[in-house]
Amino acid sequence: MHTRSFPVFIALIVFLCSVATRAAAAPLQVVATLPDLGALVRDIGGDAVRVTVLASPDEDPHFVDPRPSYAVELHRADLLVLNGLDLEIGWLPSLIRAARNPALIRGNPAYFDASEGIAVLEAGMADRSQGDVHPLGNPHYLTDLRQGLTVARRLAERLSQLAPQQKTLFSQRLAQLIDAARPLLARAANLRQKHLSVLAYHQSLSYLEDWLGMTQTATVEPKPGIPPSPKRLVELVHLQDSNPAAMILQEAYYPDKLTRLLADKLDIPLVVISGGASPGQSYLERIEALMRSIEEAAP
Ligand SMILES: [Zn+2]
Repeated sequence: MHTRSFPVFIALIVFLCSVATRAAAAPLQVVATLPDLGALVRDIGGDAVRVTVLASPDEDPHFVDPRPSYAVELHRADLLVLNGLDLEIGWLPSLIRAARNPALIRGNPAYFDASEGIAVLEAGMADRSQGDVHPLGNPHYLTDLRQGLTVARRLAERLSQLAPQQKTLFSQRLAQLIDAARPLLARAANLRQKHLSVLAYHQSLSYLEDWLGMTQTATVEPKPGIPPSPKRLVELVHLQDSNPAAMILQEAYYPDKLTRLLADKLDIPLVVISGGASPGQSYLERIEALMRSIEEAAP
């Protein structure tokens, strides 16, 4: 090499190294609509992702307050992870429009609909004329660990597509997640032996019930999204005689005043479950807490 070009050569190497280091170190900016999805992205992505979650665990995912700051996050996002099946239909489309991020279009790598690959329950059963908020079937699949693992596998693929240099990391973290899920799957098999009957507040626990072998006697809401009337509560008291439930299950974001009265009247426990992973909680920790609350309330 000519001696005069050597400093130029060194400068070029330094420049290329700095570019490579920055590219490797810059985390993917991910926006997840729901806490459980955010937890899954963190579980798979580790330090290679920076995750913003829009809904909080104590917000009903059908009705999230679309704050302007969410559009700013979406504008910067390399990847949007959403639940799909129209769960976010009331608040996400307007945020995406406001974000003006041309990458966030269905079909693009930056748009990840987590419901693809899920065997949807209750599809074609909605009666929209009555205000049913599940027009495309039941969208609440993330409380079933088996469905969560399906989402995790697809997430690892998508993250690898967007950040190929981190593919090994994502594969390793996915393998760890699948391995760590095994004891929970074994506990689920034990719970299935109990054949629990449960009364759910909203039609949101079908996947959980399917996974844990529970039978749902009814929902406290007469239709998804329709609050119970006093008449409905009388019906549920009568139903308990012919088809008894062992517990009432509801997410923390639903009102619990009437269900506490109902649980007292029926003399069964009211189990209030979190509406999603709390900040810093992994997806498996969230599922473990959910299972434990059911195990503890089971007769
Ligand atoms: Zn719902």
